[in-house]
Amino acid sequence: MTTPVLEVKDLNTHYGKSHILQGINLTINRGNCLALLGRNGAGKTTTLRSIVNLTKPSSGTIKYFGKNLLNQPSYKIPSYGITLVPENRGILKTLTLEENLKIVSNKNDKDNWNIEKVLEIFPSLKSKYYNNCFDLSGGEQQMLSLARALMLNPKLILLDEPSQGLAPKIVLQIEKVLHKLLADNLSILLVEQNLKLAISLASHVSVIGKGITRWEGEKLDFVKNVDKHKEWISV
Ligand code: ATP
Repeated sequence: MTTPVLEVKDLNTHYGKSHILQGINLTINRGNCLALLGRNGAGKTTTLRSIVNLTKPSSGTIKYFGKNLLNQPSYKIPSYGITLVPENRGILKTLTLEENLKIVSNKNDKDNWNIEKVLEIFPSLKSKYYNNCFDLSGGEQQMLSLARALMLNPKLILLDEPSQGLAPKIVLQIEKVLHKLLADNLSILLVEQNLKLAISLASHVSVIGKGITRWEGEKLDFVKNVDKHKEWISV
């Protein structure tokens, strides 16, 4: 059996006195996408933030390729190969697209992601290369956010609501890129309200309700019995 890329067990996280995550379990294998589904406020974003220690977990186990990740400083985590693409996309809007990419570009290794390669995978960013990021559409900002994440050469991307607010045509473009990345063995933990997109990308699904993992299993089992999960997700 191969070691999972990420294995989370009984993760608990508080915001002050509020006990938000009360037992999250999830496993992601290499080249797979796990869709983390749940209603608003269920704790999906908190789960992603807890994994990278942007919100400090109270207890639990987080293993990345079998090694302990719990309590590792959040600034070190991208260098281990884990990148969070946050819901607000995290780009620096007062800078140009070029500057946003150059900030994370520190290698010239041809085997790694670089500016040329990310512009190949997101060709629509080429014509906006020198534009200020305020001038980018929501779709272009999402693509830039993903491009920045790739420039850090991740093995695992934590992706928070990539389709939010985007036109179906743009969502389709992003979906195609994500399929390609999965085929290249990247692993993805995907938080997504767009069930169709989540199902298209995921091999496994984890359902979270009120900070607790309610179900985890293969996508096909989830799809066959989707009504069973109505209490915890909008279907
Ligand atoms: P959504 O789909 O709406 O983004 P979510 O499943 O990602 O929801 P979280 O954002 O993780 O949910 O929030 C889980 C709970 O934690 C919610 O009740 C939310 O109000 C609370 N919460 C989130 N961030 C904070 C914070 N910084 N301080 C206090 N409570 C917070």
